[in-house]
Amino acid sequence: MSIELNQSITALKGIGEETAESFAEMRIYTIGDLLEYFPYRYEDYSLKDLTEVQHDEKVTVEGKVHSEPSLNYFGRKKSKLTIRLFVGAYLIKVVFFNQPYLKNKINMNETITVTGKWDAHRQTITANEMQIGHNTKANAFEPVYSLRGKVTTKGMRKFIHLAFQQYGKYIEETLPETFLKKYRLMGKHDALKIMHFPNNPEEVKQARRRFVYEEFLLFQLKMQALRKFEREHSPGIEQKYDLAKLMELINSLPFPLTNAQKKVVNELLADLKSPYHMNRLLQGDVGSGKTVVAAIGLYAAVTAGYQGALMVPTEILAEQHAESLKNLLEPVNVRCELLTSSIKGKQRREILQELKEGKIDILIGTHALIQDEVTFHKLGFVITDEQHRFGVEQRRILREKGENPDVLFMTATPIPRTLAITVFGEMDVSIIDEMPAGRKTIETYWAKPEMLERVLGFIEKELMKGHQAYVICPLIEESEKLDVQNAIDVHMTLSHFFQDRFTVGLMHGRLSSEEKETVMKAFSENNVQVLVSTTVVEVGVNVPNATMMVIYDAERFGLSQLHQLRGRVGRGSAQSYCILLASPKSEVGQERMRIMTETNDGFVLSEKDLELRGPGDFFGRKQSGVPEFKVADMVHDYRALETARSDASMLISSEAFWTDPEYQYLRDNIKESGVLEGEKLD
Ligand code: ADP
Ligand code: MG
Repeated sequence: MSIELNQSITALKGIGEETAESFAEMRIYTIGDLLEYFPYRYEDYSLKDLTEVQHDEKVTVEGKVHSEPSLNYFGRKKSKLTIRLFVGAYLIKVVFFNQPYLKNKINMNETITVTGKWDAHRQTITANEMQIGHNTKANAFEPVYSLRGKVTTKGMRKFIHLAFQQYGKYIEETLPETFLKKYRLMGKHDALKIMHFPNNPEEVKQARRRFVYEEFLLFQLKMQALRKFEREHSPGIEQKYDLAKLMELINSLPFPLTNAQKKVVNELLADLKSPYHMNRLLQGDVGSGKTVVAAIGLYAAVTAGYQGALMVPTEILAEQHAESLKNLLEPVNVRCELLTSSIKGKQRREILQELKEGKIDILIGTHALIQDEVTFHKLGFVITDEQHRFGVEQRRILREKGENPDVLFMTATPIPRTLAITVFGEMDVSIIDEMPAGRKTIETYWAKPEMLERVLGFIEKELMKGHQAYVICPLIEESEKLDVQNAIDVHMTLSHFFQDRFTVGLMHGRLSSEEKETVMKAFSENNVQVLVSTTVVEVGVNVPNATMMVIYDAERFGLSQLHQLRGRVGRGSAQSYCILLASPKSEVGQERMRIMTETNDGFVLSEKDLELRGPGDFFGRKQSGVPEFKVADMVHDYRALETARSDASMLISSEAFWTDPEYQYLRDNIKESGVLEGEKLD
């Protein structure tokens, strides 16, 4: 960026230290930052013809007052002022809430301008702005900025105006001419100007298109530069596995691999053998058989003389995986050990010692695997399950424990393609898109809470057949305590209902891991028939005799999470059922319930989830790794993302990109991000 634009915003007249502090809260430090601080929406004050306005849409109209304002109070401080207004040929109603003082300002037969929400059914505008006289902002299309500190909308507009006047001429083009031409994108100066001082929505659309493409291109360039850098500068291990031994393992399995599993195994083997460093994401729906694939991959590393590690999010899951791996790898005589924080004292010391000496082939555990005291002899392959629960930092620590081991991330939360290429743009992606033969789909029903009694009857019928049931309790954002209370209440209700006939267990996040384990064990041994639980039961738990799942307040969960939960049943040969107890108020909520009853396909659900919730929410608030874009929207601007991605890949691999002055800015941008020094993008 030019020197002029890099000056502090205090260079602008009217911005002193104090105002600068408010700007700092918006991450605006320089004049360039200010010019690139985009409005998050626009207020349209142009006059509209009411016949063309949709119900609930915001509108500005001008009209003649046709009735004396009538004022009603309700509650202590609440009031409603109503007038009739002639707008062209229409007589409509306008209401103002809690602005009683307007009664004396509005007079019969006067012209006024009001802005508000149009209720087409009631022919009424609920006004939030009013101006006596004609619309002085006619045709205005004004930017609205998200503001912090002491800066007002008016102030913001004024400063941006000033900045443009004095410094607009220093705005330099950042996109290569070729791309501007090819996609008919607006130049940077003009596009910025329109973003801040637009005349109409169409113009903004064009200006926005330019910034969307630019944001995606810069992001993709960084991702792909990182990938290229990793390939060239972090030599991986060539793991020369023993194919004959692998075949022995594969032939010892109680079932043939599905074609999708075979394909993925081959992808893993190719990565292991290559001198490059594996950085791969494995996606596969719940029950698609990722564990077997992981076992084969880890065994491949073992036959090549390396150790493997499998890292999972919870202790329960670690134990289950350790069990499965031990069973699967028993015929080939591989030593698997479990390491969790509850393994202590002598046993722990022994495991650590043997690991260091290379006597343990595969270590399975939780975050405990990345503690300082854990040293591998020769770590070659690391797999993490449900990777999005691990922070980027944790992954890096583990990687650094070995000699740059190959890394595979597995996830059962299918990530829509859109997100996969952004969030995991620097990774290779493998997909298991086929279920093992003979799997029955889970029949899913949506029931209103009033039908609880019938639902309980349904559960009872399943229990009478000797099956078991999960009952999942509401998720209350931000409050584990309330979640727990809910589970306790539901547990009481059900214990009462099934009194003397069946045992109802309770599981929630406030239990110690021993307590959790005891409950889980009782459930898996069928000493407990109904397990009431919060979402702690979500991941990986495997009790094939459970055929029924009831989810209370299902509207509170995202589709992907509902799907995850539902995946706890349908693991055996019997038909399984899932009942969603929900009375969603919104259209979107109802749509979600319908989709759940219609499909069992995790990928379809994840695409829908993304569409309905938007990318920010997709991984939940706390999940890192989802890039934030200023203007672009990963869902709606998907096409631009694809284009930018292929352009980035073309650029990165071209000779000219690294030398030609046309690409100077793009190159600098990559360098600034530090990826070429081997740093990580978070
Ligand atoms: P995921 O981890 O993907 O949810 P798992 O690896 O736990 O799935 O597999 C789910 C179940 O399916 C396990 O009981 C496993 O033994 C079984 N399974 C895996 N692959 C196959 C296959 N190819 N054919 C039949 N059953 C399979
Ligand atoms: Mg699994």
